Amino acid sequence: DLEVAEIDNALLEGVLAGQRRALAKTITLLESTRADHRLRARALLNALLPHSGRAVRVGMSGVPGVGKSTFIEALGLFLIGKGHRVAVLAVDPSSSLNGGSILGDKTRMEKLACEDAAFIRPSPSGGTLGGVASRTREAMLVLEAAGFDIVIVETVGVGQSETAVAGMSDAFVLMQLPNAGDELQAIKKGIVELADLIVINKEDLDPDAAMRARAQMGSALSLLRGHGAEVPILGLSALRAEGVEAFWMALEGLIAVRREKGEFEARRRQQALAWMWALVQEGLQLRFQASEPVRLALPEVLAAVEGGKLPASVAAVRLLEISR
Ligand code: GDP
Repeated sequence: DLEVAEIDNALLEGVLAGQRRALAKTITLLESTRADHRLRARALLNALLPHSGRAVRVGMSGVPGVGKSTFIEALGLFLIGKGHRVAVLAVDPSSSLNGGSILGDKTRMEKLACEDAAFIRPSPSGGTLGGVASRTREAMLVLEAAGFDIVIVETVGVGQSETAVAGMSDAFVLMQLPNAGDELQAIKKGIVELADLIVINKEDLDPDAAMRARAQMGSALSLLRGHGAEVPILGLSALRAEGVEAFWMALEGLIAVRREKGEFEARRRQQALAWMWALVQEGLQLRFQASEPVRLALPEVLAAVEGGKLPASVAAVRLLEISR
């Protein structure tokens, strides 16, 4: 494929020079489902890859209303003040279901959006969650090649999208409200296991409740993970931009330790492989579904399995065989 598609040099150079128009066009190309666009996008991505990878990738999750956009705006402005260039991406699981969106619709992060050193892109829409996540991951690589040295990927609420975002970030942050019992929700959904750092937002509303929430989360974590696996739990007021610097220091500290131990690079290597296999799996599935012999045989096979006339295992082998 890569030989067939010509690399769009104007776009390539534009991205490497950090030009916003070239960036936006390239990401749009990545998000397109047209086959010729996919080819051009892949060729571009391949050429950009050697220039990517130098950013810190931060994943962030929390229920709607917890204060993600308020916090990301405060954090982004703080980081830009320190000379960083900050990109914000999103993986919105609802956008893959019905075209509606939890994260994208409202006007968000207006101040941050005005900054030259910031680039904010809503979640791609349509397709499977895997497809949405995959396009976000590719956009992240493009933004890194354009010189953004901090990429924040946010997501919301359902376990699978958190797993996808954790799988593309160097550190995964879970944002919680200071409500009693909130930690149980997060545990139930299996998100706590993914978190490298937990923040309790809206501390300003009720500092005592926030303190209790931190303590509860702490004991829930030690039950869940055992001692030794320390996950920092920080308090925040995103609205007042309080705790932003402490948050960033904790995150940088965590990453520095991982780099020292070689865990940082190991995690990225492992993520790249996991991503490849996920795409292979998706590709195989698509190929299977598109297979003409499978399509023709499927109604009969389904009926036979449903009716108990054909063992599922035999049916699976038969379908796989004719799909080749
Ligand atoms: P998101 O859905 O997670 O992106 O949440 P938003 O950032 O849109 O915040 C939801 C609401 O909570 C908004 O009305 C914010 O102003 C408010 N909010 C966010 N952070 C704080 C905070 O630290 N304290 C208080 N009191 N309100 C906050």
